[in-house]
Amino acid sequence: MSTAKKRRKTSGKKTVKRGPSRGFEVLVAKRAGFCFGVKRAMDIAFSMANEGQKGVYTLGPIIHNPQVIEKLRSSGVSPVDVGQVRKRGIRTLIIRTHGIPRQLCDTISAGGCRVVDATCPFVKKAQHYAKLLNENGYQVVIVGDSQHPEVKGIMSYAGDDVVVVDGNSPVQGLSSKVGIIVQTTQPVEALKRVLSSVIEVAKEVKVYNTICNSTALRLRETESMARKADLMVVVGGRNSANTTQLANLCRSLDVRTHHIETADEIRDSWFRGCRKVGITAGASTPDWIIAEVEKRIRYRGGASRNGT
Ligand code: SF4
Repeated sequence: MSTAKKRRKTSGKKTVKRGPSRGFEVLVAKRAGFCFGVKRAMDIAFSMANEGQKGVYTLGPIIHNPQVIEKLRSSGVSPVDVGQVRKRGIRTLIIRTHGIPRQLCDTISAGGCRVVDATCPFVKKAQHYAKLLNENGYQVVIVGDSQHPEVKGIMSYAGDDVVVVDGNSPVQGLSSKVGIIVQTTQPVEALKRVLSSVIEVAKEVKVYNTICNSTALRLRETESMARKADLMVVVGGRNSANTTQLANLCRSLDVRTHHIETADEIRDSWFRGCRKVGITAGASTPDWIIAEVEKRIRYRGGASRNGT
């Protein structure tokens, strides 16, 4: 008896169709979901929750994914803002992957709160190089977004004369000895632009390329998938910058794109006439949400079948 027949027989009830039912192919990005740093932070948070440790909080939402934040909250680990740490006498605080300014970390610890550092090791490395350059007399230039929490954290190690540039405008007010560091999620083109501007004025330049290639590889894979697909489904928090970046990339290639947070948003009508459907996800999207989305797409709509 074939495996399929056996499955039908042993299920005993309704026969369930497996795989793509209406002749379209489903492509799932290999790099969809948690990057190394996010996975590490999630492991730290969930293991503390599972050990039943009481009074554990994260400084802000640990990642930009509402479903994960809710799951953590129901396991006993909730986000708080910095003002609440002292007010509520919080004893244990997990720092998210972006890291925080050094002075803030010192203040929290001095108040008697245990800091559990889930800063991504790649971000830690950028902080370390900022400190090293400053100690060795270099003026530190950070390529990145000055409002981003990761950059604010790195700045705190870089000395008073630190400069943050986004790679789109000329760098001004530099000394003759400059050290360059990059926000981990910046494109390499931004670093190249800043470097070419800095070498116009500085006599000595040291560069630490602290770009994490996880984002670049994910974008590259998504682009190549979107070029083959009729429809792209991008999974992740609507407040997740890197998920939004993936969706925008797909749209810029004129591919029909839906950015969803969960499988419940899938609509059957999306798939009419499709031959290839691509699924990708941001760095803060957990595997269980991606797997559910893939399953619903393979089954063509699942729970949303009648709602379309
Ligand atoms: S994208 Fe890279 S630097 Fe950022 S958290 Fe993930 S692994 Fe770390």
